[in-house]
Amino acid sequence: MTAADDCVFCRIVEGELPARTVAERDGAMAFLDANPLARGHTLVIPTAHHQHLQELDGHSAHALYELLHDLVAVVEESVGADASNVAFNNGPAAGQEVPHVHGHIIPRFEDDGGNPIHAVAGTPPELSDEELDDIAADIADRA
Ligand code: AMP
Ligand code: ZN
Repeated sequence: MTAADDCVFCRIVEGELPARTVAERDGAMAFLDANPLARGHTLVIPTAHHQHLQELDGHSAHALYELLHDLVAVVEESVGADASNVAFNNGPAAGQEVPHVHGHIIPRFEDDGGNPIHAVAGTPPELSDEELDDIAADIADRA
């Protein structure tokens, strides 16, 4: 799928909605988040419409990661950040609101009062060594 008419990020890609674009590449682009969680909060998207990371073809996946990789240091330096959280909400149950793949680059500052990425999930499960072994084996079988 290349574009979805009702997708706000596809409309940005098509130039139908304004955005504070910071980079454009073949297959990916980046713009400031309209509701920034920090100065410089940037979204990096594949230009093709897909909701989930696992649906991207190789070209989109590479373009997305390459732009994300290129921009992390640039964004941090531009706003004088000490670090950043780089994350995807991959599906509605994980908090994804815009159904077009996007990576968040959220600049972080010493003592900004925020949390590490460990804070995003629910109550941690209590897993035995056997259960952990089973999970690892199942993932390894499918990988
Ligand atoms: P998520 O919960 O990961 O789907 O986050 C969607 C993000 O997109 C939010 O941080 C919104 O502030 C941001 N957003 C929504 N619409 C726009 C827009 N038109 N331009 C820029 N950012 C947007
Ligand atoms: Zn889209």
